This record gives sequence, C-alpha cells and structure tokens, in this order.
Amino acid sequence: MAISRTLRVLSVSAGKALREPRTRHALTTCSRRYCTASSPRHVSYITSARIRLPTPHRSFASASAPTFKDSISIDIDGKQTTFDSVFLRDSCRCPHCVDPSTSQKNFQTADIPANVQASAEVITTPSGPSVVINWKNDIPSFSADHQTVLSLSFLRHALSPQKPGPVGIHTAVPARKLWNRDSMATANTFYDYSAYMSDDRTLYTVLKQLHTHGLAFLSNIPDTSQTNSSTGVVNITNRIGHLRETFYGRTWDVKSVPNAKNVAYTNVYLGFHMDLCYMDLTPRFQLLHSLRARAPGGESMFADAFAAAERMRTESPDLFHALRTFPVTYHYFNAGHAYRQIRPTIELLDPSDPTSDLALLNWSPPFQGPFVAGIDGTGVGLRTYLAAAKRFDELVNKPENVFELRMEEGQCVLFDNRRVLHARRAFDVQAGERWLKGTYLDRDVWASRFEVLRGVYEGK
Ligand SMILES: [Zn+2]
Repeated sequence: MAISRTLRVLSVSAGKALREPRTRHALTTCSRRYCTASSPRHVSYITSARIRLPTPHRSFASASAPTFKDSISIDIDGKQTTFDSVFLRDSCRCPHCVDPSTSQKNFQTADIPANVQASAEVITTPSGPSVVINWKNDIPSFSADHQTVLSLSFLRHALSPQKPGPVGIHTAVPARKLWNRDSMATANTFYDYSAYMSDDRTLYTVLKQLHTHGLAFLSNIPDTSQTNSSTGVVNITNRIGHLRETFYGRTWDVKSVPNAKNVAYTNVYLGFHMDLCYMDLTPRFQLLHSLRARAPGGESMFADAFAAAERMRTESPDLFHALRTFPVTYHYFNAGHAYRQIRPTIELLDPSDPTSDLALLNWSPPFQGPFVAGIDGTGVGLRTYLAAAKRFDELVNKPENVFELRMEEGQCVLFDNRRVLHARRAFDVQAGERWLKGTYLDRDVWASRFEVLRGVYEGK
C-alpha cells in the first residue's frame, strides 16, 4: 500500500504498530492548566507499515515498552529525515495544545522540557498517513496519555524550501510566470466586475493571477464619480480584505492638480517606479480605478521587474549581485512627512543563497535619496551599482518588455507593487479629464484570501 512505500519510522515501538487495526481514544478529558478542550480523536492503526529498527535497538522489536528518543527518523518519499522531538512536540495541534475555537496555542515553546523524548508509530487517519507520537518527559501539565498526531503531509511541508515563500508555510505556491509585452497581452483578461464581486471562483482566478503575473484587470465597474468616487476601488479591495491606509488616505486621486506635491499628480511623463519604497512596510499591491479617461495620452505602462532581474541573474551575475547588495536610499521629506528607508534593489527569499527565488524588488527613482555607501571616490560598489542600474533600466524600458494600454473608464488595474513597475505617458490636461482612484493592499491580506480560496477550489 502507499504508506509502506512512502513512510517508514525508525526508533518506534514496533510492537504497537504491528497490532491488529483498532480504534483508540488518543486523547482523553483534560484537567491540565492549559487545556480548554477534550475531544477524543479516533485513530486507526495500520498493519502493513514497514517498521525498521536500527540495529542497536533491534532487541526492542519484540518488547512491549516503547522506545523514547530525542529525535525521530522518518522516511518521506524515499528520503530519510530526522525530526527533533522538540519540533514534533511544539507542532502538536491536538485540542489540548491548540484551542479548537480560537486556534491559539495553549502552551509555550519555552514550556517544553529540554529532555522531552518521543516514541512514534505509523497510523492511518481519514486525512491520510500520519505518525502518532507518545511522550516521555512531556510538559509537566500534560498527562501521561497525551498523544500527538502529525500527518505525513505536514511533515513534508515542514521540510519544504517554500517555507519563507510568498504565501505561507502550508502551501507550495504555483510558479510565477515571467512576462513581456506579447506574453502579457496574450495572458491578459478583463474580468467582469460583477463576476469578481459575486463569484468566489472569479475572485480566486484574479488573486492567483496577481501571484503568477503580478497584474490583473477588471472592467465594467459602475461609474460612481458623481456620488462616492471611492466606491469602486474600495469594493474591489474589500472583496479581498481590508485595505491599507497611508498618509495619502484610505484612497487617493491621481489627476492633475495645481502645485502638485507628488510627481504622480502632474501631467508629465512618469517613468517606471514602485510606490512607497520609502516606507518600512511598502504596500505589496496597488489598485487604480479609472473614473475619467477623456484626456489624450496618459496611457498606463507596466513592466515585469522580476523578468528583468532573472535575465540579469543569468547574463551578468556581478551586476545581479550589485542589485541585491548595494544599499539605495528612498525617502519622502515633504508636506510634513519624513520617511526614509535604505534597501537593495533585489531581495531574495533566502539572502544567503544567490540562486534563491526572488522575494521582491525596490525600484523608485523619483523617490531616491542620497547614497550612503560607495561615495568615498574609490569607485567600490557605487560604480558597479551604476552599471547594474543602467542595465536594469534598459531592460524594463525595452519596448518588447512594456505592456501598455489606455485605462478606459470603468476599468481597474490590480498589480504587485513589489514586482511590477508602473509608468504613465504624459497627457494633455487641458483637453479633457483624467482621473484615477487608487488604494493599496498588504500582502498578507491577499495571501489569506488566496489560501482560503485555494483550499476551496484546489483542495490545497
Ligand atoms: Zn497536544
């Protein structure tokens, strides 16, 4: 059977695991100080798991007493892996350890005795193969019959290199699709606003595209410019979760106004950039709803900064290295605000590994401040960064890499502000009105909605 091929547990109580199938109340009513629940869990023990004890312990194979150890070795998908008993104990999700109502942990990691030891055996549960663990030297407030059941799926994910990934530890995310002008034009769909608002599957499709492409569009948004102009973009954002308020407000307008405090509020060409790189928590997503598009010009342009970064990683590792190490200052000192951040252009999921996946980028030339490194005239660092910045700028501006469109009234763009650069052509403010209503959304709000819907539609 499948379990015997994929999972073998070493250092276990073989006598128990080879018993006839049975049902056991693995958990009993609890009187411990942390516990708030008592919910017996039924576990069926399989009979065909291949249990193998290491040679020094073979004498235990016929003994009834379990073998407790500091760590447990498990064969997952053909690879033997050792799990620290502290990790296994800390991961317990039984109703005594994690409150079923609030999902809050009822004990602290610090409560786990350093000499805690585990004895494991293979079981089947309705949700798949699992390991059931008995404890020696458990947290003192837990009773001797406290058991932990961890699924093979959980243990496999615990080993996954996706751990620091963009969604969460429980999910291996779909692969990103790097794009250029033509491939984005092929991939792009204008999703209907009503479908997005009423159908969870459409919402899920848009959320997924925000991960794979970092860019998605809606259309047919009702015109509320004469009543509450924020309604469209607020509804679209609240469909995902709570929006991110900044000093620009809950929502903000992009249109030409006199004495603009921000270059986005004028009618000149606005080059490729990301928003708010000068903030500690730069918003991950941005939404722009077109309320008026009656001025000639003003086309919106988007470029995949991840595609440019990956190309540089391949063609010029030295310049890629410069972009992920050289510190760049971003600041906004204006109109009573004082924001400043110093960060490299490219951030990897694992900064210690130059082959690691991209986490996010920082690129916002209009809001760059004075450099703090490489300014001593030796040319170290700054000159290499200059060459790298030139190449990156060249790549993102190549016409074949720029997805350009005119945002018509009733359309909204949603994009990943740490991946997709946005720009805007100049427009004639005298010839007609151009008005976009914008807001921001944090990454974990998107990730939460994405994870939940992914579970619904893909069972993951
Ligand atoms: Zn527990």
